[in-house]
Amino acid sequence: MKERLRRFMIGRYGADELNKFLIICGWALLLLGFVLSGINKGVTVSLGSALVTISWVVLIFSIFRTLSKNTSRRAAENYKYFTCKNKVLRWWKGIKARWQDRKTHRYFRCPQCKATVRVPKGKGKIRITCPKCQNQFVKKT
Ligand SMILES: [Zn+2]
Repeated sequence: MKERLRRFMIGRYGADELNKFLIICGWALLLLGFVLSGINKGVTVSLGSALVTISWVVLIFSIFRTLSKNTSRRAAENYKYFTCKNKVLRWWKGIKARWQDRKTHRYFRCPQCKATVRVPKGKGKIRITCPKCQNQFVKKT
């Protein structure tokens, strides 16, 4: 049996980070769908069954990816997933940092290059020089 499975998987893509993520999402959606359907109040039922359907699509897609023989395509998807994940993580880190030093610093967006500039709080009106494009703008801190 194990040997047959091994032979079956030859040349197939197998599991990767994106699949792990899809499986977790799929199960979470399925669970949420069941809970909402169980509440049984008109709208929640249709929302619940919609979530269950989506969760099936997600789970079947993850199985399809595992068994796929188009490995380069799957690897590209996985790479895209990592790029997105990093973007989300960086965004979240930014929010966390802002929250942590909300009492000592203020954040501004450079009007020219849209870079985020961090300046100490409580200095009154100051001229800020963007570290990225050297553009200057005046803000109250
Ligand atoms: Zn700038």
